[in-house]
Amino acid sequence: MASGKGGTGKTTVAVNLFASLIKQEGLSVTLSDCDVEEPNALLFFPGTPKHVQDVTASIPRIDKNKCVYCGECAHICAFNAIMFLRDPAHIQVIPELCKSCGACTWVCRHDAIREDEQKLGEISILEMGTHSLREGRLELGTPFTVPVIQKLKAITPNTEVVIYDSPPGTSCPVIEAIHDADYVIVVTEPTPFGLSDLKLMTQTLKKLGKTAGVVINKATPDHSILYDYLEKENLPVLIEIPFHQRLAAHYSKGHLFVDIHRAYHNMFRSLYTKICTQIHTGGRP
Ligand code: SF4
Ligand code: SF4
Repeated sequence: MASGKGGTGKTTVAVNLFASLIKQEGLSVTLSDCDVEEPNALLFFPGTPKHVQDVTASIPRIDKNKCVYCGECAHICAFNAIMFLRDPAHIQVIPELCKSCGACTWVCRHDAIREDEQKLGEISILEMGTHSLREGRLELGTPFTVPVIQKLKAITPNTEVVIYDSPPGTSCPVIEAIHDADYVIVVTEPTPFGLSDLKLMTQTLKKLGKTAGVVINKATPDHSILYDYLEKENLPVLIEIPFHQRLAAHYSKGHLFVDIHRAYHNMFRSLYTKICTQIHTGGRP
């Protein structure tokens, strides 16, 4: 579940698809909230999630009493995460750039580097019988979104259906969330901003070679602004969720659309059916 920008209703579609599928007999489903900077899928379901594990990383720390300022560690670091000056002598690790590869510790012949475990985020799970809802949450003030998503996906169970609710945009965390998906649902809205971000997302999906379809949220009777582009790119419209103030009010109270009216339940079931058909027939953007 992806969107070129925030606020289009990506999580709305993710939680409602999940809620409609867990009522389907014989199907096991996982929803993994990969929007780790502000996860909120758990808010829509009753129950207390269990904290499963912290996500940590080894970040090097330089002992300046042992360091001889040879610069070997900065030289080997492929991510420019060590700032080194020979004259005046200065060395400093930039944790935000570090990928915890361990090369600097390995190369230092003066035993001047130690690695500290730094908490990057945490994983929580709400078990729901054969289904589960999983959430990655980034530690406040840390920029390590990708490792938290990687850890969350690494512990996602082997259910028949797994829904990844991606962060918004088209940057690295989004690629991490969708790169191994069988199908990408792009949620958009019929506005010039929605179209602009949809174009960026379509370019990304083309590069990744992903099969994709579009959900139009807040649909109004005239959204030719989107249709012309979707037709040109051969992107199928899977469902359209109408723009209703009543729906927005329900959403703001944490209610699921599929619980409001049977018609929405059927709409999200049809979304799943269309995705299955698309996966079998191809339909790349
Ligand atoms: S390799 Fe070791 S001794 Fe050389 S600059 Fe880096 S920390 Fe200092
Ligand atoms: S652990 Fe790897 S990425 Fe981090 S500072 Fe050392 S060499 Fe660079």
